[in-house]
Amino acid sequence: MPSHDSLPILVVGTGPAGLLAAIALARGGQRVTLVGPGIALDRRTTALMTPALQFLNSLDLLSEIAPAAAPLRTMRIVDGTSRLIRSPLVTFRASEIGQEHFGLNIPNSALLTVLEKAVSASPDIDWRKATISEWRCEPDTVHARLDNDQEIAAALAVAADGRLSPARSAASISVSTKTYPQAALVLNFGHSRGHGFVSTEFHTETGPFTQVPLPGQRSSLVWVVAPETAKELASLDDSALSIRIEERMQSILGRVSVEPGRQVYPLSATLPARFAQNRVALVGEAAHVFPPIGAQGLNLGIRDVQDIVRVIAENPQDPGSPPALTRYDGMRRPDILARSAGVNLLNRSLLSDLLPAQLARGLGLTLLGSLSPLRAFFMREGLRPGTGFQGAVSDLRKQIRR
Ligand SMILES: Cc1cc2nc3c(=O)[nH]c(=O)nc-3n(C[C@H](O)[C@H](O)[C@H](O)COP(=O)(O)OP(=O)(O)OC[C@H]3O[C@@H](n4cnc5c(N)ncnc54)[C@H](O)[C@@H]3O)c2cc1C
Repeated sequence: MPSHDSLPILVVGTGPAGLLAAIALARGGQRVTLVGPGIALDRRTTALMTPALQFLNSLDLLSEIAPAAAPLRTMRIVDGTSRLIRSPLVTFRASEIGQEHFGLNIPNSALLTVLEKAVSASPDIDWRKATISEWRCEPDTVHARLDNDQEIAAALAVAADGRLSPARSAASISVSTKTYPQAALVLNFGHSRGHGFVSTEFHTETGPFTQVPLPGQRSSLVWVVAPETAKELASLDDSALSIRIEERMQSILGRVSVEPGRQVYPLSATLPARFAQNRVALVGEAAHVFPPIGAQGLNLGIRDVQDIVRVIAENPQDPGSPPALTRYDGMRRPDILARSAGVNLLNRSLLSDLLPAQLARGLGLTLLGSLSPLRAFFMREGLRPGTGFQGAVSDLRKQIRR
């Protein structure tokens, strides 16, 4: 058997998590074999927060992506329900925590095109444009057979192969999955009034309706509704759908005109029992799936990538060894469990007709709206886990000094 350090790291999946993992590993001096089809472009956008952008910048990728993106300076939550207990408007301003913006809203096409270019330009990434049809996880190596009959042996497979992750099943990692009675209608639209780089999330009885700024007088929309409503909305003609969106937004952005390209995503949540095992480490949606609320998914996926790169660098002799994988599992567990629980809880509280759930959500948002230290805590925690308390202590020190 070849020694572990002579084997490449196998990355499977060519969505944003897999492409980024391959680039970051190669920049860190690893030899990488990347397996996955050519990139699939869609019209979705992804809001990436400052820490994720700093990571892209450290890989020299941000300057090419940023011109296609819009900054998120303010985020508002509006209670758009007609329930008995309604919450006040809550506004989060990046300036409140001394930031110019929370992050950037990036068209997926721009993000994926830049990542694909970087992968293709790297001499340390061997990209096999194929899919893996068979896995074999052995104690010392992991083996993948491609649909073109090639075989790859690696010390570690970084599985970025999405929510159904065949690599995860091959590593005998069990998952718990929940399907929600919701689907997200996703599209971009133009509007007659400027957005002022404000994103507005209307909380409705079926889920959030989230408008996020794009460059110019354009925004992206993720509208979470019952699956049958998503189907009905997606089948409307452009002018009828534009009117429905304008009504839902109470015309805050003036006249709406939807752009071509509507997509519908059924919502679900998936959580694996472990984040690494049997020479497979999970990153991106292979490691966590939850509803698209609060722009958490790929931000969390990027933190997975950063941690697996760190663990691989710390274990040059055998990056897929049981101690290395236990360390990765331990690093990712608190962050993934906290984010998944937070997003799923918020989604359930929106769907729930129960008065205690509505009371708890209303009280939480009222406190957030009226207490600026609490708002600052959540804004910092939303950007980077663990920074909420540090920021609160530093704010307190500044106040004492004054
Ligand atoms: C409507 C919506 C809005 C969102 N908005 C945001 C947001 O604003 N901010 C944010 O941070 N996140 C957001 N997310 C989440 C984000 O989109 C996901 O976290 C991210 O796209 C997941 O990327 P991934 O690379 O893990 O998975 P995917 O993009 O699903 O990629 C999986 C890859 O694996 C490949 N693959 C699968 N099986 C095999 C195989 N056997 N062999 C080889 N390759 C294989 C596939 O071809 C694909 O390339 C949103 C999600 C949705 C649905």
